[in-house]
Amino acid sequence: MKYINAEKINNLLSAGNKFDAFKIDAILNKAKRLERLALDEAAALLLVQEPEYLEKIFAAASFVKDAIYGRRVVLFAPLYISNLCANRCLYCAFKVDNVLIKRKSLTDLEIKAQTQWLLARGHKRILMVCGEGALPGKSNIDYYLQSMKCIYQAAVGKNKIKRVNVNCAPLEVSEFKKLKNAGIGTFQIFQETYHEATYRVMHPAGPKSDPDNRLDALERAFVAGIDDLGIGALFGLYDYRFETLGLLSHVEEMEKKFKIGPHTISVPRLEPAVGAEISINPPDKISDTEFKKVVAILRLAVPYTGIILSTRENSDLRDTLLGLGISQISAESNTSPGGYSSDQQTQAGGQFSVGDHRSLDEIVATLIEHDYIPSFCAACYRKSRTGESFMQLARPGTIKGKCSMNALITLQEYLDDFALPLTKSKGYALIERYFKQLTLVEQKSLQIFFKHIGSGVRDEYV
Ligand code: SAM
Ligand code: SF4
Repeated sequence: MKYINAEKINNLLSAGNKFDAFKIDAILNKAKRLERLALDEAAALLLVQEPEYLEKIFAAASFVKDAIYGRRVVLFAPLYISNLCANRCLYCAFKVDNVLIKRKSLTDLEIKAQTQWLLARGHKRILMVCGEGALPGKSNIDYYLQSMKCIYQAAVGKNKIKRVNVNCAPLEVSEFKKLKNAGIGTFQIFQETYHEATYRVMHPAGPKSDPDNRLDALERAFVAGIDDLGIGALFGLYDYRFETLGLLSHVEEMEKKFKIGPHTISVPRLEPAVGAEISINPPDKISDTEFKKVVAILRLAVPYTGIILSTRENSDLRDTLLGLGISQISAESNTSPGGYSSDQQTQAGGQFSVGDHRSLDEIVATLIEHDYIPSFCAACYRKSRTGESFMQLARPGTIKGKCSMNALITLQEYLDDFALPLTKSKGYALIERYFKQLTLVEQKSLQIFFKHIGSGVRDEYV
């Protein structure tokens, strides 16, 4: 597989690399200075088993997350528009030969209705998701463009979706350009596994059976002008330590080629999917402790890259992982096209089962209880602070101030418009606490924003 030096990764992970407390402390100190870690340093952390040192890794990750991102956590919801797919990924319910699920591509009206359902709960950011190909009578790209248009057009009162990220199959440069013009936020594509032999077994048929085409797709998207790119590995298919170093090798290659790394890294874990045996008995099951280790080490190794967690994980684990470096989470997700509708006719088969069934309001309330600032902000993308310009802001920690301000503004809007009474009172108290920590200049500016919100203005940001 391109970009991945499997021999090097295997050597770094070989049993000969004995635990060295002095070396681990030095690596953790480097990470706490917010410096990127090299592959061999990340490998040394991945080999740590000693409970005392695992705790040190977790504490360092939590320190780095707070130093760069502050306490804000960005919330989004996936919107599955179609479960038709030409591929045969062994772990996914959407695979072409799965006859156990009902197939569906949402119509324009259905997409608008699904978006309105999410808007009415308070969502502002959507991840549009779909299978690959085989859409009757329409090319993939035309269907994606039409769907994005419907999502951006949908409205509930003054509320509209601010950012549509897309997780879809590889496209050509000319097609990516169209997505860019249609207002795509991040283009996400997961390599699933960086271990080539495993990749070939897991993807026996369809366009996805070529692993390099997926890596190239990111390059094509970048050439087309999409500089917010998201990568990910599907944990459970192969050794988690290899996958983590695979992700970091991929980051290094992107940095070399594009001069910037990925905007986000996603860490999906294999969940049970109807008709997909592999998903029920993962070949390389990763424990909760190992998963925590992965998130923490990614946070330390690439401090300026957002880490995304989905509702695949249960609520307790999600709350713990937030402290270790997760910066974005999905909320109240459904993986079926039409799944946000109560009408059974509109719903089709889901991709996999989700582990966190809390409502957005419950998730917001829990975040607030744990002293996080739930954020619905999309300011960076709308102010063109993407790609290199985002990184320039993020590196010295400047983004933290802007993010905190925008998180507080969007939280105030959410509380006023959507929150249940208990969440409202907890939320306003949190805003008051964080307000006091701002500089006088920031406080003055925030007061003006709050005044505007009080008089009905929405969607302002710095
Ligand atoms: N079909 C496109 C693709 O595969 O790239 C894009 C969307 S696919 C629906 C999104 C992601 O879902 C995949 O990249 C894969 O990582 C994840 N996925 C598939 N089956 C899964 C399962 N059983 N459990 C958890 N995640 C799964
Ligand atoms: Fe299709 Fe994506 Fe599922 Fe593979 S993971 S079967 S490409 S939807």
